[in-house]
Amino acid sequence: MADARIIDGKAFAARMRARIGRQVAVLKESHGLMPGLAAVLVGEDPASQVYVRNKERQTAAAGMASFGRRLAADTGQGELLHVVAALNADAAVHGILVQLPLPGGIDARAIIGAVDPAKDVDGFHPLNVGRLASGEDAPVPCTPLGCLMLLKDTLVDLGGLEAVVIGRSAIVGKPLAQLLLAENCTVTIAHSRTRDLPAVCRRADILVAATGRPRMIRGDWIKPGATVIDVGINRVEGEGGPDGKKTRLVGDVAFDEAVQVAGAITPVPGGVGPMTIACLLQNTLAACCRINGVLVPDDPGE
Ligand code: NAP
Repeated sequence: MADARIIDGKAFAARMRARIGRQVAVLKESHGLMPGLAAVLVGEDPASQVYVRNKERQTAAAGMASFGRRLAADTGQGELLHVVAALNADAAVHGILVQLPLPGGIDARAIIGAVDPAKDVDGFHPLNVGRLASGEDAPVPCTPLGCLMLLKDTLVDLGGLEAVVIGRSAIVGKPLAQLLLAENCTVTIAHSRTRDLPAVCRRADILVAATGRPRMIRGDWIKPGATVIDVGINRVEGEGGPDGKKTRLVGDVAFDEAVQVAGAITPVPGGVGPMTIACLLQNTLAACCRINGVLVPDDPGE
């Protein structure tokens, strides 16, 4: 069997960001509106610093306003709630994201619950989680939305397909299962207590791995021709990577095995990862339009 088609999330996300940039320009021109995104970072976690820097860079590149809020690691919950309240009240801010994880001592649920649901571009507020589950219009968490976009681009119609999502986190697994259900897939959510996981995976026309376990999903767990979406981002020691670092980024899927069996597969890096920020920008554009009571502009084209 020929190797799987590689799903190029990096290129897809670049096209998406360019399209959003054109729509932002139209919004400015026609309504004098500029979408604004505020990223709140508490503490010095190096991975979070990289994520937030990338988000801010890409926000500015799309022509949106970027409002960074950097807070010391010892910031208290009360102070963070004040920062969120000020951003809620700021008319120039249409999207608020609080970078997770938060330092110990801060209740992440209290902070997420304090974000104005209309500005909740991460889609984590309980009201938006409920809206998604009820099939209502709501901001959808960015990583699952990116997965869905890649799946629809690859398969076009997902109706009736067997989808297995491994992982039940509130950030990835659960919202993605809701999205796939809305696309009329038959959805199974698997997790660490699932019995005979390889057999469950072999049923899947669509297999999504979001476990945080490097290369856990083996080639012989995959149904021949299946579409595999690897959400995992794991840094493994001792292998070296193409970027010259001593570590390598790998997914939750054993790519070299899976690529020989699957019909299509996302690589790591370059698959789901770049889609997350592109979807964040899309959610911010949509929030700006919704808050101001205007329609998201059509893409005027290149
Ligand atoms: P998480 O909150 O740790 O959840 C992991 C899930 O995987 C849990 O539901 C867990 O089951 C399940 N799991 C763990 N070990 C398993 C096993 N041996 N067999 C079956 N299921 C198992 O992780 P997450 O936040 O969803 O993230 C998952 C992965 O996606 C990570 O690698 C993360 O870095 C990556 N990620 C990437 C992006 C992006 O591309 N931008 C964004 C977010 C996350 P239990 O519930 O039973 O414990």
